[in-house]
Amino acid sequence: MSGGPVGPGVRAGVLALQGDFEAHATVLASVGAEPSEVRVPADLLGIDALVVPGGESTTMMLGVEREGLAGPMRDFHASGRPIFGTCAGMIILDREHLGLLDVVTRRNAFGRQVHSFESDVDMGLEGGPLRAVFIRAPWVEEAGPGVEVLAEVDGHPVAVREGSITAIAFHPELEGDDRLHRDFVEEAARAKAGASGR
Ligand code: GLN
Repeated sequence: MSGGPVGPGVRAGVLALQGDFEAHATVLASVGAEPSEVRVPADLLGIDALVVPGGESTTMMLGVEREGLAGPMRDFHASGRPIFGTCAGMIILDREHLGLLDVVTRRNAFGRQVHSFESDVDMGLEGGPLRAVFIRAPWVEEAGPGVEVLAEVDGHPVAVREGSITAIAFHPELEGDDRLHRDFVEEAARAKAGASGR
């Protein structure tokens, strides 16, 4: 599913310490944003939005600590620029890790046997439900009052939103459906226009 470019001039960073950051960068470029890899704090300076990809949350969190990225990522969030966390990215944004998103996630929540599955997820997007790919996915176990649940699978939240953070348990970069990346880049363009108008 695709349309015209939505994000001319939007610089979208992807945390590139571990995991499938390249696939996100490809989709971001295809919707018209300028992707860049974020590995050290200085990489956060020139970007308008940040994707925290799927991968392995423990390894990714070790990288965040090693590179001294936790504080700069909190500052980035405080500046109002949008963040999109997917799968392991949702885990490391939670209360027990970076503490940017007021949820507790449960890792590998769908069970050890169920490493990977697909499911239609209805997030109320134009064009209908998304065919979502879940790979050893987490779900949201607990959410604070400011967190909006956007979609559930088997009664468990798999897509949430709080302020400028959207977090999902699945892998939109592997689906050939770019609607969530488009929405994210559009949000970044609006945030950027709002910030420069201040
Ligand atoms: N199971 C992984 C973790 O706990 C997340 C899997 C993924 O990002 N696809 O970190």
